[in-house]
Amino acid sequence: MKGQILIISGPSGSGKSTLLNRLLAEEKNLYFSISSTTRKIREGEKEGVNYYYIGEEEFKQGIEEGNFLEWANVHKNYYGTSLKPVVSALEEGKIVVFDVDVQGFKLTTAKFANLITSVFITTTNKKELRRRLENRGTDTPEMIENRLMNAAGEMEHIMEYDYLLINDDVEKSYENLRAILKSMKLKSANINLRETINNWIDC
Ligand code: ADP
Ligand code: 5GP
Repeated sequence: MKGQILIISGPSGSGKSTLLNRLLAEEKNLYFSISSTTRKIREGEKEGVNYYYIGEEEFKQGIEEGNFLEWANVHKNYYGTSLKPVVSALEEGKIVVFDVDVQGFKLTTAKFANLITSVFITTTNKKELRRRLENRGTDTPEMIENRLMNAAGEMEHIMEYDYLLINDDVEKSYENLRAILKSMKLKSANINLRETINNWIDC
């Protein structure tokens, strides 16, 4: 396969969507893997853009039919990555972007290890994460507590990722994310080496 995978993980509220939306709007040849989820749609989100919002039964049927590259239960909801569109995008040579939790990262690595560059995004501390979740205004106090508890567990996995972004200054984080993307594009595996060598010999 010619493409690569960029995996973004990190606590809910750390700023993954903020950074990714900007990257996807500005960078060509990226393909965002739209996950399916059983969680309720949030204000500002769109069906088929942020997620495919489906019921639990449909999700479980998708698992049985082997439609998911990986799936996990996060914050009491199901989330999963559809296999087919990811494989097609990889075959087209695209960089496929995943926003998945640490379980999704592990399961994807088991299948596509040599295609993956991984980034963990978080805040400076837990207090700031709480502030962002409260300001975002999309979750009940109970959901926020659940997300904060989950976040502490996710932080324990930072060392498994290639890069760490502490997203305090959004401009700086975006610049760093673009630098990571640039390094992916420069990987020799992503360049048509046969053509490069032949052209070099011919001149
Ligand atoms: P995630 O996708 O990781 O759940 P979001 O992108 O939805 O997180 O960001 C959570 C909230 O934090 C949003 O209200 C967003 O505007 C805000 N936010 C994102 N990055 C920063 C930052 N660097 N500084 C302050 N607030 C931020
Ligand atoms: P949110 O509800 O904030 O959009 O996402 C909650 C968590 O689910 C985040 O950690 C996000 O990365 C993760 N997530 C989103 N889609 C997927 C997916 O397809 N698979 C897995 N494993 N996690 C996902």
